[in-house]
Formats: sequence, structure tokens, C-alpha cells
Amino acid sequence: MRARGARVLALLLMAGLGWPLAAPGRVEVELQNRRTWDFPDAGVHFSSQFSGARLNGCEQAGKNEFRAVVSPENQPINESPWYSFQVWSDRRKSITVRFVYTYAQPRTRPWLSRDGVRWELIQDSDYAVERSSRTAVARLDVGPRRLWVAAQEMIGLEQLGAWVEGKAGLRFAQESVIGHSIEDRPIRQLVLSQTTNLNYVFVIGRQHPPEVTGTLGLMSFVDTLAGRSRLAREFRRQFRTVVVPLANPDGVEHGHWRSNLGAVDLNRDWRRFAQPETRAMRDSFLALTREPGARAFALIDFHSTHTNVFYAQPVGRPTYPADLARRWRSAIHERCREIHFRWDDSHNPSSATSGAWGYDQFRAPAITFEYGYDTDRRLIRRASEVAAEELMKLLLETP
Ligand SMILES: [Zn+2]
Repeated sequence: MRARGARVLALLLMAGLGWPLAAPGRVEVELQNRRTWDFPDAGVHFSSQFSGARLNGCEQAGKNEFRAVVSPENQPINESPWYSFQVWSDRRKSITVRFVYTYAQPRTRPWLSRDGVRWELIQDSDYAVERSSRTAVARLDVGPRRLWVAAQEMIGLEQLGAWVEGKAGLRFAQESVIGHSIEDRPIRQLVLSQTTNLNYVFVIGRQHPPEVTGTLGLMSFVDTLAGRSRLAREFRRQFRTVVVPLANPDGVEHGHWRSNLGAVDLNRDWRRFAQPETRAMRDSFLALTREPGARAFALIDFHSTHTNVFYAQPVGRPTYPADLARRWRSAIHERCREIHFRWDDSHNPSSATSGAWGYDQFRAPAITFEYGYDTDRRLIRRASEVAAEELMKLLLETP
């Protein structure tokens, strides 16, 4: 009994402390071995030697058949698998790649690219999922030129870095580094404002590495806020938009499913702040809003999931501006009929998400803005432009 009691006590203590404790700066996930796999008799090669890649194993299963292992960086983990690799062959041929998931089910159809820039979704006829065996099979045409194969089109460190630099060059933008990740990558922040006003809107992206559609949404949303329209100029005179587009650079670099290098889901760390990435955002947002006269009007965190969703505060939790999330969603639906955002205010307000923290800190609407993994990309861009315009109008009308 004593031994059992001690074990229960230890378990309770560990649960209370959120064990295992990831010390800042400590790598707690299983890092991949970046490498190339050569199959000389087939003349076929696979590689994971590039930023954002993930391939957890590869073997030949037949003359032109291969098995690609898909595994997460730590467990248990949210079931949002990521893989990304290059494959090529000495001579043109068709090969079959069987994706073997060691955890979770196949989630998205592979995206393909010949240059790492332009991507398209694999044809339906070339892909099949076998849920009973947690596998998926893809037929790929390969040749001497490398073919990129990834769970979503890749918008990684390089592309997001170039986007940030483009924005930072605008005369009303200031870029700064607000902290560093465990592997010492900068956490970059953009502030868009044409005056010294102190009315803040916070925008966060990519806490979760595979959530590329959230990034597409964020980019188009911020492009619109930074645009030349009369509305955007007026908005920038009255509001400062603070953007942290890449909250988890290590996770994106290493092709993670969910975590940072501390094996932590950053969007569950907004209470403990045990990770440098979440601390950087907290410290920056609090420092900005601590100035006399400063006020936060909204915190918007872009993500991806199985469908388009607006997570917001439940009725009975008043916000200023009042009822903004609901009015904003209606305005988007009104103007962009092709998209539908599911409304969800059942989110546990005591959870350690950016949304719960933003609301607790500022009593401002804190919205988790989710696009589906499979939502049409042009529609994401269009809906995000509309979302930016409607948010600007609503905030400018706020008394
Ligand atoms: Zn997410």
C-alpha cells in the first residue's frame, strides 16, 4: 500500500508540475537523422536533407515499391502528421510509395512540387488511404529532377522570412526580434502603424508547424492590413497591428507535427510559459500594452484543422469591443458566401491557449482563426482579405 501511495503521490506531483519538465533550452524531442536513402538496383533516391523535411525511415518493398515511415517527434501528440521529402530516379519511371503511419491516421493528400515553390495536390487517382492498416499509397512519376512530396505545400523558414522582409521594408513597418527559440532562431515581430497610436491588434501564426493553411490565411490577412486602400491607411493611423508570423521556427525547421524542441505544444503553454517562444510573445505583448493609454482590441491566432473554425469566448464572457468575434464572422460570411466558419465558443476558457490568455489579460476578443487543411487555397486568400477589411471596419467603428 505504501509503495502504491507513494506512486500515486509521485504521479500527482508530476501531473501538477506538467512533468516531464522541459527546461528552457533543452531539446526534449527525438530529432531526425537527416539523410539520403539510395536504392541502387531501382536507381531511386529519397532525401530529407532540407529545411522542413521529415521522413522517419525508408525502405524498398518491391522492384519499384517503397515504404516511407511517418512518425511524430514525441508522444502522445495531436494527430496532425507531417512528412516532407524529395524523391528522384536515374531514369524516368513510376514508383509506388506506401506511407506507413506509426501514430495517427493519414490526414491529408500529398502535395507535389518540382521546384519547392509551385505545388499541386496529387491526383485522386494516384492516391489511396487504407485506414485499417494506417497506411496510404501514392503513385509517383519520378525522374532525374527531384520531386518534393509533402503533407501540405511548404511555406517554411525561407518563404516566411522573405515575406517578413518584404513587409519590414514598408515605410510604416518596424521589424524586431522579440526572443529566440530553443535552437536560437529569432522570433520575429512586425509592427504596422502610421502613427504613434496605442490601439493594439495582435496576430500570431504557426505555433503548430504543419498548419500551412493558417499561414496562407495570416499572410493574406496581413497583406491586406498593410495594403494601399483608403481603409487600410485609415486603420493604420488609428491601430497598431503587431504580427508574430512564425511562433515555432524550430518546429517548422525540423518538420514537427506539433511541438517545439521542448516537446511542448506551444498553444498549451500560455499559462506556464515554460518555453522561450511563448515567453517572447507574452513579454512583448505585455510590454507594449503596459504604456499608459495603450489598449488591446483583439488577439488573432491563425491555425489549421479539419475544417474552417472560429474559436472565441463564450457568451457571458464580455469583451471589449463587445461581441466582436460574432459580428466579424457574420460580416465575413455576408461578403464571402463560399466559405463557412464553424462557430465554437465551447473552448475551455481555463486552457493554456493564446486565446484564453489574451482574453484573461486584455478582456479583448481573442480568436483562434482556423482554416481547413483542404480548404481551397484561392478561397483562403479571398476570405482572409475580406476578414481583414471587415475587421478594420468594425474596429474603426468601435466607440
Ligand atoms: Zn493549431
